[in-house]
Amino acid sequence: MDERVSVTDGFHLVVDALKLNGIDTIFGVAGIPITDLARLAQAEGMNYVGFRHEQSAGNAAAISGYLTQKPGICLTVSAPGFLNGMVALANATTNCFPMILISGSSDRAIVDLEQGDYEELDQMNAAKPYAKAAFRINKAEDIGIGIARAIHAAVSGRPGGVYLDITAVTLSEVIDAEIGRKSLVKIVDPAPKQIPAPENISRALALLASAKRPLIILGKGAAYAQADKDIRSFIETTGIPFLPMSMAKGLLPDNHPQSAATARSFAIGQADVVMLIGARLNWLLSHGKGPLWSDTTQFVQLDVSPTEIDSNRPIAAPVVGDIKSSIAALLTALKPGQIKAGAEWLAALAEHEKKNIDSMTKRLAADPHPMNFSSALRAVRDALAGRPDIYIVNEGANTLDFARNIIDMYEPRKRLDSGTWGVMGIGMGYAIGAAVVSGKPVVAIEGDSAFGFSGMEIETICRYHLPVVIVILNNGGIYHGDAPDAPPSPTGFIPHARYDKLIEAFGGAAYHVEDTSSLTKALTGALAAGRPAIIDCVIDPKAGTESGHIQNLNPKTSVAAGPART
Ligand code: ADP
Ligand code: MG
Repeated sequence: MDERVSVTDGFHLVVDALKLNGIDTIFGVAGIPITDLARLAQAEGMNYVGFRHEQSAGNAAAISGYLTQKPGICLTVSAPGFLNGMVALANATTNCFPMILISGSSDRAIVDLEQGDYEELDQMNAAKPYAKAAFRINKAEDIGIGIARAIHAAVSGRPGGVYLDITAVTLSEVIDAEIGRKSLVKIVDPAPKQIPAPENISRALALLASAKRPLIILGKGAAYAQADKDIRSFIETTGIPFLPMSMAKGLLPDNHPQSAATARSFAIGQADVVMLIGARLNWLLSHGKGPLWSDTTQFVQLDVSPTEIDSNRPIAAPVVGDIKSSIAALLTALKPGQIKAGAEWLAALAEHEKKNIDSMTKRLAADPHPMNFSSALRAVRDALAGRPDIYIVNEGANTLDFARNIIDMYEPRKRLDSGTWGVMGIGMGYAIGAAVVSGKPVVAIEGDSAFGFSGMEIETICRYHLPVVIVILNNGGIYHGDAPDAPPSPTGFIPHARYDKLIEAFGGAAYHVEDTSSLTKALTGALAAGRPAIIDCVIDPKAGTESGHIQNLNPKTSVAAGPART
């Protein structure tokens, strides 16, 4: 008789449960109590990517979730590591990206009595307000169920960030291997289809058919849904002009004849029926209110979340369902010739587009020395021409505003940016996440300030030999340069800083450019080399406006600084 007892433990069960559900990548930072989990995951054939800071690991996980529709996994240590990862988890939830933050945690008996354990924190309850769901696993036998619950919560309905707490004791708990194997759950249908009600479909089509000036707004929910063909077919069949939100750029190519992007304000202001596809009427769309919007505009809204409807303005025709199913149902029900955008409306849009294109062309033709945002981004655009396969990551205030307009996108889900929060710090995490899950090159277009938030991850990029090229539009400060008198100004950085020198420390390629033709040449060369690089671009420190295009959101004091204010 075989005397050996076959056993397993919590570490093995976590890895087994993830693999069983098709999850093959973990982004994380190792340490107590999850170091062996990271090691084991790698030994068991998972792709483990080790970062320098949990926020970037979390951002990589979040964007991989957006790109793959599978929850991106971020692994952290307890308390401080967990909290660092929380920023990314909250950002994922805000942006509707599926992600699971798994953190190890300290002894519950001590934590709950606040007796001062190593890295003591009630992590599950701390996570709750910022996550779509938060769970804690207290027994090795529950790991299978715990991971199944986390996956369901992350990807079903409106996707979001899920926190999964696993105590140190649970990770090292040894149980019978057979009991462990039986405790695992292979999920049958993690993100079940949500079919819209037929009356939602007929009401939406009737409203669109009645429109004189219809408009479609595509959001990142539409991009996430991977219903690219059907969305394009609906737009082309109906002839309705469309506007992409920034991360939906490329869902249809930016040079598509029906794109109204160059007449955005006019299109929004004049449209009588607007169909929102996976886009919220939040601050990025002025809440659907004046002066940008007319108060007589009627809305069709496609969204998976029923509570999104009527959140900012009444929605005349809600279509609640997942976008893939909703668009398919609309296409099936659409009768030939039922909806056709009118020639007058298209002509009015074309006229406005022409005016805006002319002024943009003029702005882009200028070649000032030092470079400004427009001229530098035109040089970047020239180097990217013919490379629609490249992922673009973009953050910074002015860098974001200008790049969104100047860099056209031609393929879906290739533009990854500051998103719903307008957050800074996603740069290197998103770049690494995109490069790891796609194997494709990434160009991160960064302001010098934005880059600083995640800059240390260039070591990660070099360590994993990722094809990430970082273009830093360096105007020496937040918004713009500001000579550092004593004390340094709140928005100024060291003038003439050489960000390219940083990557030399890790064996990456360094470029420093002061004019547009050198910039195009450097980026073309760096992409051809296919290895990590930083291109430090000298931008006029006077270029860039405070808060970029959202100055209206920045309150300003009108009272002079100083002591005497009586
Ligand atoms: P953007 O910032 O591009 O306008 P938002 O993040 O504001 O986009 O909106 C995305 C919307 O898409 C959210 O309301 C979300 O509920 C919805 N959404 C996300 N995924 C899906 C999906 N698969 N099907 C339907 N709606 C979705
Ligand atoms: Mg700057």
